[in-house]
Amino acid sequence: MSFLTFFARRFITGETVESAIEAVKKLNASGMSVTLDILGENVTNQEKATRTADNYINLLQVITKTKIDSNISIKLTQMGLDISDDFCYENVNRILEKAASLGNFVRIDMEGSDYTERTLNLVYRWHEKFENMGTVIQSYLYRSEKDIEELNKRQIKVRLCKGAYKEPKTVAFQSKDDVNDNFVKLAKMLLKNGNYPAIASHDEAMIKASIETANQLGRDKSSFEFQMLYGINRSAQRELVRQGYKMRVYTPFGTHWLPYYLRRLRERKENISFLVRHLFKD
Ligand SMILES: Cc1cc2nc3c(=O)[nH]c(=O)nc-3n(C[C@H](O)[C@H](O)[C@H](O)COP(=O)(O)OP(=O)(O)OC[C@H]3O[C@@H](n4cnc5c(N)ncnc54)[C@H](O)[C@@H]3O)c2cc1C
Repeated sequence: MSFLTFFARRFITGETVESAIEAVKKLNASGMSVTLDILGENVTNQEKATRTADNYINLLQVITKTKIDSNISIKLTQMGLDISDDFCYENVNRILEKAASLGNFVRIDMEGSDYTERTLNLVYRWHEKFENMGTVIQSYLYRSEKDIEELNKRQIKVRLCKGAYKEPKTVAFQSKDDVNDNFVKLAKMLLKNGNYPAIASHDEAMIKASIETANQLGRDKSSFEFQMLYGINRSAQRELVRQGYKMRVYTPFGTHWLPYYLRRLRERKENISFLVRHLFKD
């Protein structure tokens, strides 16, 4: 294991399916569901994108065989979105068919804003054929309120997060307060009219506001879920389970961990100083 891989292990289970399955078993044993992510993005080679879809199909079979409680999360640029929409559509179609036949669910992650419109258009196309899928909306984007209206109308399942990419002020709120205010507003829309919404945040204030809204709306604890990332805020994950809420942990594994790891580092300056301190320690 390289020095950097050692640090990345805080946020990923390892490079193999076996490492992921072991981690899922532990999370399941503590009352949490999982969504598994095979790390990778921006694949521009057809063969590689096809292989990645095959790996996800294999993963769905392993999930069924090992009887673990996990669905999957995929990124469209990993499935060939940079090649063409039609290629990506067909490639993901195979995963959705397999998931449907096994009674599993596929979450389409949301990437940078250059992809938002195309991702949602593909999601609408797939959802005409498959109900076992959903997508992600980012509260930092100005457009998200309109998108949630449409997704609610179609009863497509949404995971709400703040957003992890660097976006310009032409498309996204820049201040934390604005992103948070929008998160609370969008969570309300989802908890009011959405289909089994997922509130994905480690921010205590976002979680508290969502619980208050769910209570005001009389929404049953089993009709929505919280989601957090593997390795972040474990005590809050356990506490929500203790309070009877559903908790799903986004659990990545695989060899292409660097972009994911860098996004996690960027989110919190303490992560960077921790890394720097250990890199330069004698
Ligand atoms: C389940 C899940 C799925 C996601 N899917 C997507 C997606 O598809 N597309 C997308 O753009 N983004 C996705 N994200 C990332 C998300 O957009 C945010 O970048 C990330 O969750 C940090 O935002 P926050 O809500 O936790 O709030 P923040 O205000 O960033 O953080 C709140 C607190 O959480 C803790 N925390 C947050 N991040 C870290 C970290 N990296 N290391 C250590 N502690 C941390 C800290 O205590 C921090 O004070 C996802 C997040 C989750 C939880």
